[in-house]
Amino acid sequence: MPEVETVRRGLIPHWVGRRISFVDLRRPDLRFPFPDGFDEGLTGATVVGIGRASKYLLIRLDNGLTWLSHLGMTGVWTIDADGEGKHDHVYVEFDDGALTATYTDHRRFGIMDLFETADETDHKLLAGLGPEPLTEEFTPEALKASLHGRRSPIKTVLLDQRVVAGLGNIYVSEILHRAGISPLKTAAQVAGKSGRIVVAVERMWEQTNEVIFEAIEAGGSTISDFRGVDGSGDLGYFPHQFTVFNREGEGCKREGCGGTVRRIVQSGRSTFYCSRCQN
Ligand SMILES: [Zn+2]
Repeated sequence: MPEVETVRRGLIPHWVGRRISFVDLRRPDLRFPFPDGFDEGLTGATVVGIGRASKYLLIRLDNGLTWLSHLGMTGVWTIDADGEGKHDHVYVEFDDGALTATYTDHRRFGIMDLFETADETDHKLLAGLGPEPLTEEFTPEALKASLHGRRSPIKTVLLDQRVVAGLGNIYVSEILHRAGISPLKTAAQVAGKSGRIVVAVERMWEQTNEVIFEAIEAGGSTISDFRGVDGSGDLGYFPHQFTVFNREGEGCKREGCGGTVRRIVQSGRSTFYCSRCQN
């Protein structure tokens, strides 16, 4: 989510107020096929704003439609590139070519869609998203309630976008390490009995907000494929150090711990943690 927020902030000054004058789709699909009438719906419309829900960029158009762009694992928007690369799948011109934008995605896990803005609450990808970190809706009470009774590992449950919207794999490892919670515990164990908020939930809530705040401030994580929208590599380029992510076999950074970072796989994704201070 911090990466997507960085992209959103990067695109706003370039796109908002501009009219889309030409759209070229170089293939029929990304992760899913482009919807019918996608390029026709975009062409001629003016961008009036760019919002975000979790990892979905929501580009608002003056024709009542919203253009959704999810970057998947490797999607990148680049301003004023030539758009001729092998993995350049969508090419857009604004204001009769005064500005161009190219969507590049070599693994093609990205998603694009176009829908009536009025139907957003029913959209299959957007309906049921949980509260986002750093919002009023994201409270220790809400977090506890969504963990209650779930027997999956806390690591897996935190990645569920219905529990917290916008947390990716890297951040969940970081949050659990900072909160001192084992990724192997079940969500229900972390939540504790119904009623009062336990310290573990409080700490996890606090660290979720902090990790995301710091990541947004730094302009996104260190995912190797991530680049700022201007293609300069300035945004999101190793802006900060992770405490556990990608540090298998190295020493735990928690002061006085002395443990070693381990890597395990949960639900097909890597989890990095310290078995000494996360329990
Ligand atoms: Zn440790």
